[in-house]
Amino acid sequence: MTSAVFDVAVIGGGLHGLSAALHLGRAGQRVVVLERAWVGRHASGASAAGVRTLNRDLGELDLALESMEMWHNIGSLVGDDCGFHAHGQICVAEQPGSLSKLKERVSRLNGLGYTHEAIIDARELRRRVPAISPHCIGASIAPDNGAADPHRTLAAFRRSAQATGVVIREGCGVRNIERRGQDWSIEMDGAAVTDGERGGGQALGRDQSRDHGHGQTSTLVVPFVVNAAGAWSGRIAAMVGDDIPLDTKASMMIVSERLAPMIEPVVSIMGRSLSFKQSDQGTLVIGGGLQGIPDLDAETSVVRMGVLSKGARAATDLFPCVRDIRIVRVWSGLEAKTEDLLPVVGAAVNAPGVFHAFGYSGHGFQLVPVVGAALTDLIVSGSTRRAIGALNARRLMATPPAEVAA
Ligand SMILES: Cc1cc2nc3c(=O)[nH]c(=O)nc-3n(C[C@H](O)[C@H](O)[C@H](O)COP(=O)(O)OP(=O)(O)OC[C@H]3O[C@@H](n4cnc5c(N)ncnc54)[C@H](O)[C@@H]3O)c2cc1C
Repeated sequence: MTSAVFDVAVIGGGLHGLSAALHLGRAGQRVVVLERAWVGRHASGASAAGVRTLNRDLGELDLALESMEMWHNIGSLVGDDCGFHAHGQICVAEQPGSLSKLKERVSRLNGLGYTHEAIIDARELRRRVPAISPHCIGASIAPDNGAADPHRTLAAFRRSAQATGVVIREGCGVRNIERRGQDWSIEMDGAAVTDGERGGGQALGRDQSRDHGHGQTSTLVVPFVVNAAGAWSGRIAAMVGDDIPLDTKASMMIVSERLAPMIEPVVSIMGRSLSFKQSDQGTLVIGGGLQGIPDLDAETSVVRMGVLSKGARAATDLFPCVRDIRIVRVWSGLEAKTEDLLPVVGAAVNAPGVFHAFGYSGHGFQLVPVVGAALTDLIVSGSTRRAIGALNARRLMATPPAEVAA
């Protein structure tokens, strides 16, 4: 029997799968990305692409701060600036109570040694965001934050990963995973991955193709698996014995017609669902986590216009000058949500050689550069210095079988 030719199968061709593949490829691993639809089909292609450490939970803050440094050098990682601009992220207070909460957070952060957030008064807020409504009384700001272009980011990560020899297989859903000796046997849609896809000619590893009546499937045997399957990651985790309860988000977005430049930072409001920014093309991109209706089995989600109108109302409250503009497009995107809103990043609990990266709960775009690097540390060196300690899967699993056995 031949031995596996790929070292790592990455399940999911979103940004986290691509980032893991890129870092692993650079570290000399032979990587295949298995993507059920196409690269960027789900959350990564629907993202607002805010690059934010502002208001991050302490459980992921150190990791996010390292990722922010990587964003400021993103060209050196993927050979493109990904449309990243660091015009700052601002969280606006409309009432004194909100401003007090922001001040408390900043002073708590300062007490812990963090200096990336600051408070600005109404005058400074208006200097930075002239179009803001006069009722806003102050804000917190992370000046080195910003936003990127999600599609440019996807293209750059894809290109860079492929340049390291990573094979990307689209239209290739993973159906089942089983332990085979020290390896994992992955049953997937489509024909076996061939050497041609890596520039050779023969079928790779222990791949076997067959037809089960629901289309052709094949198997791929690898020692390492990365589970970056986004909203469906819980299903992949369950295939290898990790039962991790997950909820599903279907965050919605609004895009307006093009306007003359009116705002540079990304603006949110304390206590309300809003994220408001202007793209390089002049369109306003308005989100903030308002929820549509997810349907995991149909692999889609539905926009709820009534709910979305609350986001439009928050935007016009904050920026009265956009009251009469036209909305040209709305959409929603699927993503996994954890109970504590922190992602799962790290080794599987019950499956040696399997690593999870999911559950970003609406804020995983910013973490893309660093999480792939952390997973690569774990796979290549067996440990990482990166701050993923609070992000283990075990925290979400009620009674891990290992503990029951002990
Ligand atoms: C509307 C919206 C706005 C957002 N705004 C921001 C923001 O401003 N800032 C921020 O930091 N984050 C934001 N996020 C979150 C961020 O976009 C996500 O955290 C991130 O893109 C997740 O990337 P991913 O690779 O984990 O998942 P995805 O991009 O969803 O990729 C997972 C992939 O796995 C594939 N897959 C699933 N099951 C299988 C299977 N069985 N076999 C093979 N492939 C499979 C799917 O087809 C999918 O392509 C937003 C998300 C949405 C939806």
